[in-house]
Amino acid sequence: MRALDNYNKERDRKLGNMLGACMKNMWICYCIMNIFCFLMVCIYGQYQKGLFGLYVVPLAVTGLLCFLYIKLVVKREYIIKKWVAYLLLNIYLILLLTHPSKLILLDGLVFGVMAMYPVWTDRKWVRWQTVLLVVMVLVRHAVLHYLSMPLPVYWQLTNVVGVLAIGYMLYENIEYVHRQTMLLGDATRMDAATGLYNHECFYEELENRMKEYEQCSSKEKEENTFCLFIADIDNFKKVNDTYGHAFGDEVLLGLAGLFKKYCGNKDFSARYGGEEFVMIVGECHKKDALTRANTIRKEFSNMIFTDATGAAHQFTISMGVAEYDKPWDTASKFFDQSDQALYQAKNTGKNRVCSA
Ligand code: GH3
Ligand code: MG
Ligand code: MG
Repeated sequence: MRALDNYNKERDRKLGNMLGACMKNMWICYCIMNIFCFLMVCIYGQYQKGLFGLYVVPLAVTGLLCFLYIKLVVKREYIIKKWVAYLLLNIYLILLLTHPSKLILLDGLVFGVMAMYPVWTDRKWVRWQTVLLVVMVLVRHAVLHYLSMPLPVYWQLTNVVGVLAIGYMLYENIEYVHRQTMLLGDATRMDAATGLYNHECFYEELENRMKEYEQCSSKEKEENTFCLFIADIDNFKKVNDTYGHAFGDEVLLGLAGLFKKYCGNKDFSARYGGEEFVMIVGECHKKDALTRANTIRKEFSNMIFTDATGAAHQFTISMGVAEYDKPWDTASKFFDQSDQALYQAKNTGKNRVCSA
């Protein structure tokens, strides 16, 4: 899941900016609801001395905070920590919810604006933030009730049900958009046929690993050495020509399955193209990578594929292994090392693993 990790990192990097936009929109929304509420109170004759201040003070405080945040954080492009962003957001929300309106729909608007910013939330946070918002609004209604603004019981119940419903809708909405964003983020990186990462994503990952390695001190480099291996099915063209492409696809999926099975937490596997698969093995020296490659080679040669007539067949792969233990200019130059080892395996009789 390394490619997704990069996507998440990028999203977190933008968190400070997104929080600014979120605060601004919530404040605009909050102004509209306060003006509306104040007008309603005046029109329906419940205006009392001091009420104007009750509406204006929280509006001014939150507006000022929003302005300062945008000036000091967003404009200077500060990268803020996730927990700091979430803390600020919640302090801001508490301040927003101090408005004296009794209308549940107004809180709904605040929720609604929140729901427009789902991408910068992670799953765990979405869950807790939704609960937190619901609790905040319920507390707000309880406080308003306590401060001698009694509401009839049916109205209080409506509020509670309304808040729970809005909270649930918000959660579902965010979950859905979050899922879709993840899928979309991944769709361009995946090979649809095998479910492995694709060629482009492989190079992106290889470049990232190379950069990470080069930033290490010489002592860390020893630990961060990684290996790359490439596998190519032997005589695959003949398999297609003899048994058909659909059968060939099954064989391909068999090998893709092994590349998934043997891909650990620190590793990354992809379909390089056609019947060629690659794996980056993290924190690993050539000796261990050769062992892993041979395990895959042997397991694949033992796999049995049955064709349309019910006849069983077995196939083999050749593999090339290269170790990243010194800097290379480009990812493709390093990749050539494993490719040359693969050619060597092909030229010396196939069904074997060679190293650069
Ligand atoms: P070698 O042992 O030297 O690798 O011989 P080969 O026949 O495997 O090599 P070659 O590169 O000439 O053939 C690769 C074949 O892989 C050609 C192409 O028809 C087939 N192929 C590529 N992608 C797919 C696919 O998605 N499905 C199927 N069924 N075949 C594919
Ligand atoms: Mg090939
Ligand atoms: Mg081949």
